[in-house]
Amino acid sequence: MLISLLRERAPEETRVGLVPDAVAKLAAAGHRVLLESGAGARSDFGDAEYLQAGAEIATDGPERADLAVSVRPPAGETVARLRRGAATMSFLPAAQSLDLVRQLAGGGIASFALELVPRISRAQSMDALSSQALVAGYRCAIVAADLLPRMFPLNMTAAGTLQPAQVLVLGAGVAGLQAIATCRRLGAVVQAYDVRTAAAEEIRSVGGKPVELKLETLDGAGGYAREMTAERARRQQELLMPYVAAADALITTAAVPGRQAPQLVTAQAVRQMKAGAIVVDLAAESGGNVEGSVPGEIVRIGQARVWGGRNVPGQLPGPASRLLAQNIVNLIGLITDAEAGFHADFADEIVAGTCVTYGGQVRHEATRALLQ
Ligand code: NAD
Repeated sequence: MLISLLRERAPEETRVGLVPDAVAKLAAAGHRVLLESGAGARSDFGDAEYLQAGAEIATDGPERADLAVSVRPPAGETVARLRRGAATMSFLPAAQSLDLVRQLAGGGIASFALELVPRISRAQSMDALSSQALVAGYRCAIVAADLLPRMFPLNMTAAGTLQPAQVLVLGAGVAGLQAIATCRRLGAVVQAYDVRTAAAEEIRSVGGKPVELKLETLDGAGGYAREMTAERARRQQELLMPYVAAADALITTAAVPGRQAPQLVTAQAVRQMKAGAIVVDLAAESGGNVEGSVPGEIVRIGQARVWGGRNVPGQLPGPASRLLAQNIVNLIGLITDAEAGFHADFADEIVAGTCVTYGGQVRHEATRALLQ
């Protein structure tokens, strides 16, 4: 199969859909990869490495390709260059890309959205949300450690004792657990809160101390959290206030699938934090867990500085791309045959769940409903 690796068009996107190692794996499986020159440059993978791995540089990759791979959804002008029956694989937030979905369906192009890979055991190796959340969680811990004007670990020295930093992590999914583990490795004392029942044990397993609030847990479908009612949100904010006030660093990573990020911390609570306190809001781009956080900026609220995340996995483009590329290689393996091209088997829940458009139709139900 001919696979076109696209150069990302969004200036802020530093990642790449396939790294040279992934190209070598695809070549070994009988595929050919056509590279847009410079595709890996922002993640420090040069054309020479891709060529060595078996890729070919081509300016007409999209016209020739059976499959176009990218991190962000391909631009409309790139989709216009694809032939009928070709496919795309990328993140594709369909609800925010309805024009693109129409264009894909209208052009007879199949599209597979990485964020739609079901969270089931068999799909773990294709789970790009998890791989990118892991990188993002690590980055949040490093940002907190870097910005905090004190040291994370306990130091008992002849010149006196430096107490360890107190970190509070809200949201202990993939990103939050990685943030806890990283802060612990740096020597901070970490407390964490999540609404899922299983979270307390998961927090303990990475060295954190679960915060127990007298509130019902919110377990939703597929191991995810449910949305809070306004009353529960208010109560949670109130109960968390003393924990927020006591923290040197607060890291927030909470999300609810298909919804805006829940607001967990009010500006009033941030104003009660100590001088020099740091807040890292991973969810800033999707509405923010912290009132007043701004994606890509550090804002001052009271005595604290609040760092708003913006394409956080892309701040470590090498490892983020490496993991993402392996997710993509695994998904390609599921939907293709090196010789025969596509063999998308829609009886397979991973294939069916990930496909947005196919054969001129919008297959993804929620997106179809939005288009009607
Ligand atoms: P996510 O990004 O949707 O949410 C992050 C965390 O925020 C979750 O732990 C959620 O419970 C928490 N949260 C939501 N509302 C909150 C609130 N009001 N206060 C505090 N925390 C709140 O979730 P995720 O990290 O992608 O994964 C969540 C779960 O799914 C985890 O249990 C994880 O182990 C599981 N998971 C399973 C698979 C799989 O089986 N393939 C893959 C990935 C994740």
